[in-house]
Amino acid sequence: MTTVPDVFAIPLDDSASLVYAPLHGVAFAASQGLVSELPRVLTGEGGDSDVETFVREAGLLQDVSTPVSRREGAVEPTDVTLFLTTACNLRCTYCYASAGDSPATYMTMDVARQGIDFVIDNARRTGAPHIGLNFHGGGEPSVHWKLMTGALEYARRQAGDIEVIAASAGNGVFTDQQIDWMIANLNGGMSLSFDGLPEVHDRQRPTVRGTGSSERVIHTMRRFTEAGYPYGVRVTVTADQIPYLADSVEYILASFTPVRLQVEPAYQLGRHEGAPDAETEDFIVAYREAQGRAAHYGHELLYSAARVGFLTSHFCGITQDNFCLTPAGNVSACFEAFSEDNEFSDVFFYGSATPEGYEFDMDRLERLRGLGVENRSFCDGCFAKWNCAGDCYHKSLSANGRGEFRGSQRCHITRELVKDQLLARIAASGGLLWRDPSVGGVCPVHGGEHE
Ligand code: SF4
Ligand code: SF4
Repeated sequence: MTTVPDVFAIPLDDSASLVYAPLHGVAFAASQGLVSELPRVLTGEGGDSDVETFVREAGLLQDVSTPVSRREGAVEPTDVTLFLTTACNLRCTYCYASAGDSPATYMTMDVARQGIDFVIDNARRTGAPHIGLNFHGGGEPSVHWKLMTGALEYARRQAGDIEVIAASAGNGVFTDQQIDWMIANLNGGMSLSFDGLPEVHDRQRPTVRGTGSSERVIHTMRRFTEAGYPYGVRVTVTADQIPYLADSVEYILASFTPVRLQVEPAYQLGRHEGAPDAETEDFIVAYREAQGRAAHYGHELLYSAARVGFLTSHFCGITQDNFCLTPAGNVSACFEAFSEDNEFSDVFFYGSATPEGYEFDMDRLERLRGLGVENRSFCDGCFAKWNCAGDCYHKSLSANGRGEFRGSQRCHITRELVKDQLLARIAASGGLLWRDPSVGGVCPVHGGEHE
């Protein structure tokens, strides 16, 4: 329920609501009496004087602005993401990319160099102090080891006094030499996929030979932990593993020291298409239990669309000129559209390499730039709007097709988890009212990196 734009009253039970004003950075629990007075007080039409005093002191009568921003003009990214290869040493049951099911492609050093040169030039021209070099893609980046190390070495050499911040996603099945190199060179950190209890992980993330991979990933996390190296862990939950989520989260936090622990239901894409849905009420119940266990270790779990404390009109980088290169050298804005034959490559691919640099399809790019949540009519009136920012567009295309966005099952999960985060913050602030100290802060899920 909305009282006035961007001040929401969310019913908790018959007698109480949660009032959330994301743009004012305020949330509090309220009686139905207070809630019924709110519209008149907020619109200046009178109302109960005690409510008016409370609302004024809470800051709800102040003018606020929305966090809407939109890229304009030339494409000048200073970050590049290299989709190094579609090859992978694992065969995860839920792999969105179905890595290993079709012949692998590998990026060449020329393709990597051209992308790196482009972002360094942009950084020089715009005076940016650093560039970002990220490794991702429809396979395991470390499998294309020579290019991973060679590209970073090249970037650091070419960048001169511009700092290179390098980060990677990875499955954690690395050799000790690779781990040494990552600790020494990937200064932006590593995002590891690890599903928790070894038996759960091994069922979902087998090697190409069909054996479990947990032992190797555990070794990697131990090494990272011993080195004090910053790494995040992403847990993917399939429908049949939902009952083990809390134990999995506890296992990770009792044994390792990830800086971020993200939990997401598996998407029904790639190898997981047609599998039982994990975006369910059971997931929310299990997430809540897992969050309760995580709290004992001082952790708040992350879920990509529930980001209380972070206001934005962009869910991810697709609206912000995300510059990702496929092995063929084409430019995609989306991590899941990692190859030219992706079903939605006509949506996310907006450029290609030429002998002189890059050629961009500006019509396509403008369409992507215009996908901020302020232009998603389905999201109007949603209290999670400025935290979720419309969720993953690739998933919305998969779920809704190419027509108007009509929401997904994830909307319910997002709203429930945003509600939980607000109630936890109110409780931690003494139980009455929470003020967001970090309006405009850093994305807790993506941080400096993306997804
Ligand atoms: S969040 Fe979704 S739309 Fe954005 S890059 Fe990732 S897969 Fe693509
Ligand atoms: S309607 Fe759904 S996608 Fe849109 S902001 Fe709300 S939760 Fe996110």
